[in-house]
Amino acid sequence: MYHDTLLLIDGTWRAALDGRTIPVVNPASEEVIGHVAHAGTADLDLALDAAQRGFDVWKAVSAYDRSKIMRRAADLLRERAADIAVLLTLEQGKPLAQSKMEVLGAADTIDWFAEEGRRTYGQVIPARAPGVLQITIKDPVGPVAAFTPWNFPVNQVVRKLSAALCTGCSIIVKAPEETPASPAELLRCFMDAGVPAGVVNLVYGVPSEISQYLIPHPVIRKISFTGSTPVGKHLAGLAGQHMKRATMELGGHAPVMIFNDADIDEAIALMTTHKFRNAGQVCVSPTRFLVQDGVADRFLAGFAEAASKLRVGDGMDADSDIGPLANERRIPALQGMIDDAVQHGGRIVTGGRRIGNKGYFFEPTILADVPTSAQIMNDEPFGPVAVVNRVAGIEDALAEANRLPFGLAAYAFTKSSETSDHLRARVRAGMLTVNHLGLALPEVPFGGIGDSGYGTEGGSEAVDAYLDTRFVTQKL
Ligand code: NAD
Repeated sequence: MYHDTLLLIDGTWRAALDGRTIPVVNPASEEVIGHVAHAGTADLDLALDAAQRGFDVWKAVSAYDRSKIMRRAADLLRERAADIAVLLTLEQGKPLAQSKMEVLGAADTIDWFAEEGRRTYGQVIPARAPGVLQITIKDPVGPVAAFTPWNFPVNQVVRKLSAALCTGCSIIVKAPEETPASPAELLRCFMDAGVPAGVVNLVYGVPSEISQYLIPHPVIRKISFTGSTPVGKHLAGLAGQHMKRATMELGGHAPVMIFNDADIDEAIALMTTHKFRNAGQVCVSPTRFLVQDGVADRFLAGFAEAASKLRVGDGMDADSDIGPLANERRIPALQGMIDDAVQHGGRIVTGGRRIGNKGYFFEPTILADVPTSAQIMNDEPFGPVAVVNRVAGIEDALAEANRLPFGLAAYAFTKSSETSDHLRARVRAGMLTVNHLGLALPEVPFGGIGDSGYGTEGGSEAVDAYLDTRFVTQKL
């Protein structure tokens, strides 16, 4: 079922010029299931040349026609969703139903950007003097270099790709080497829908070598990166040095504030699904649960019981709620954080270790009473591990929620409008969702503040990030 993945350069799927490849491993079986082409500098030069020519062609296509092609790509993606979902699960591990939702969600994202791209109007600004015309013109920024991670192989590409295409930009995507086939199928839908050669290009290789080569290159005018904060800071520095526009969607460490007046059953149900989705390998994954004293015991008992009932197994098995971790290095990373939390006085309420020794399966884990000196209270666990700590009230909760330099997602459960008002005003996060799960729709902003990065990958600002504004004033 699984197949090898090639580079897409100038409208052609092909091997790397020097024939190098990288093996792809199924995280559920640890078997090599295929290979992906490994681009070298000569391949990147071809991609850059194609992206420049692609840009010249695509920016001249009307927004109306670009939108039609994009919507055709979305329809193709829907038609192919079942097959692409299988590739995604085999290479990334998540349950098949979640893979299918990811692919269908991507089609929804394309449709939204296809429409929004038709509304990139400039302005007429009233002048101070008679006979003066003042206008702004929106132009596509130019060829884009996008770097995307392995946790949502399709969804992470589609936001950057859709925003670039709807504005008239061309793009070189450096997609994840560990999960290459499903994003390649996404790009295939765009090619089959009629996107001209060179507009969308896809490469894989050594991420640091590719970013080091593409970001400073004069053809590239815009960078978009999703991944960890340390890598983001490095790439943002490189972009700054070469004066390139950049969007940085980086790590988080989401707090969940649960107050005495909250609907606790609802909080348990929503947070169990949300915490363990994609085995917790999600930048907005809820991690630090800050639960008010009056409901802390009840929440912890219910959350631990629900987590311990989740079935961990091969994502291709319809009974699995959680698949394996996507790669082997997450196992020592998580185990180290859990051991460290216990050494600092925290306790394991459920889970805590790897399952078996074949496949990267890990128990859904809940820790409690972990001091802020422990590593897990400071570094993103990026796995199926949550910490539940007690707080006395809102001041306590806010102090802990805002303690870290990250500011991506935050969650809260309360029936008090006064508490909600305080949270809205004082939580330092790019996104706050109260009493429900409302993040990551294409039409709403998706992004962080502080060490979680800058820019947004949803909503109208996501489109602006791919446009230059030019001003013209003219005496008539
Ligand atoms: P990592 O920091 O090595 O890599 C994270 C991502 O960045 C990967 O996709 C990788 O290919 C890419 N990358 C790394 N160095 C790069 C470079 N110099 N230029 C361009 N791209 C580069 O870590 P990892 O082991 O793959 O993942 C672990 C951590 O990364 C997690 O703990 C999490 O914090 C973060 N991460 C975040 C997201 C997200 O959605 N924000 C997704 C995946 C990983």
